[in-house]
This record gives sequence, structure tokens and C-alpha cells, in this order.
Amino acid sequence: MAAHKKVAEILSSIRENGRRELLEHESKKVLAAWEIPTTRVELARDAAEAVKAARELKYPVVMKISSPNIIHKSDAGGVKVGLSSEMEVRQAFKEVVDNARAYRPKAKILGVTIQEYVPHAREVIVGALQDPTFGATVMFGLGGVWVEALKDVSFRLAPLTADDAREMISEIKGYPILGGIRGEPAADIDAIVDVLQKVGQLAYEFPEISEMDINPLFVFDKGKGAIAVDARIILEEES
Ligand code: ADP
Ligand code: MG
Repeated sequence: MAAHKKVAEILSSIRENGRRELLEHESKKVLAAWEIPTTRVELARDAAEAVKAARELKYPVVMKISSPNIIHKSDAGGVKVGLSSEMEVRQAFKEVVDNARAYRPKAKILGVTIQEYVPHAREVIVGALQDPTFGATVMFGLGGVWVEALKDVSFRLAPLTADDAREMISEIKGYPILGGIRGEPAADIDAIVDVLQKVGQLAYEFPEISEMDINPLFVFDKGKGAIAVDARIILEEES
């Protein structure tokens, strides 16, 4: 209940701003309120704020452009991973903002987000949408080409039981990548199950969330968890 109230408050503050699309740091606020593991993240409007945020979050950090007009941040040269000093943060701020301006001259740039750097892990995508007939639906797939080129994804209606979530994970073609191949340890499937169920419950309790995705969710080896490093939530048009 407390979580529901927190999320409702975040969504209505976005509405009050006259917006439907949550920025990454706002989407992550929703995830955190819903107890879906995600990076700590702060919005920094200038280089000095970026340095201050990096110091608070502890190096190394990740910097990303924050703009309502730039959806694919890396396409815009807007993501810098693993910055490890004040000098690098200052330099990156300039580059990220310059890149974004060159990419989309009319974009409204709010600044950058500074977030925790998460060590490399397997990347998966968890999404949700409202099906016009069936309602809240959850999507699962591996990152990158698996989703884009091979359309290797699975869907289930929310809310999901743990068994539903397990099935969703094991029925994609790329599953062996998670189950462990060539002596590689298996990924933390239970952690993915938990995120799938929580995303399903979120979309089920908030039909005004017309679309959301966690892309990517970093998944560590069995027993080590998973964490959302990018997130995006879109609200339905007001009727
Ligand atoms: P885009 O808007 O292009 O999807 P992302 O936020 O997904 O931008 O970042 C692009 C890539 O950078 C991710 O797929 C991931 O590999 C890496 N990345 C993003 N955030 C972090 C982070 N906090 N720690 C480590 N790697 C990250
Ligand atoms: Mg992404």
C-alpha cells in the first residue's frame, strides 16, 4: 500500500508538469518505490552539480544526457560509462551536452544524470504494456540483437505467478545464454522472476502506465541479483 501511494504521487507530479513521458531518473524513482532494484541516480544541471553528485555516489560513475527529446541516449553520444575522476566528469559533461546539441539541435536539455556504475553482466529487457483487450501484459527478452533482429521475446498477462515468469524466461530461444552454456555459471533466474512479477503488478495496479521498459536489466550470476540500469515509463494520454 505504501508503495502504491508513493508511485501514485510520482505519476501525478509528472501529470501536473503536463507530461506523459518520465525521464530516466523519474522512471527509476518509480522502480525504487516499487522495490525493483535500480541504480542510485541524480539529475545534475551543470558540471559543478555533476561533480558534486559523482562525489556523493562515489566513483566510478555513469553520465547520461537528460532530455525529453532524446529517447535513445547512446545514439546521441549521450552515455559515458565508468568516469573515475572530477576531471573526467567535467570533460564528459561538455562532450555529452555538445553531442546532444549536434544530434538534435532543438532538444531541450535538462542536464545529465549521474548514476552508480554497475559492473558488466548479462543484459535482458523487461517491458510492460496495456493490451487493449487483455490489459496489463509483461514482455521479456534478451538485450540487443535478440530482441531487435530476432524478435526473440515472450509475453504473459499480468499479474504473473512465479511459474508464469519462469516459463516466460525459459521459452525464449536465447534461454541457454541465461541457463549457462560451456561451463559458464547460470544467471540469477530468481532475480529476473522477481522483476517480471513486480513489473507485472505495477502495470496491473496502474493501468495509466501505457508502456514501460527496463532496457537493460543487468543480471548477475545465480544468487547475485539483478539491477535496472535504464528505464522508461510512458503514461496514457489523458482522456
Ligand atoms: P539508451 O538510452 O541508449 O538505451 P542506456 O541507459 O540503456 O541508454 O545505456 C546504454 C548502455 O550503457 C546500456 O545498455 C548498458 O550497457 C550501459 N549502461 C547504462 N547505464 C549503466 C550503469 N549505470 N552502469 C553500467 N553500465 C551502464
Ligand atoms: Mg537503454
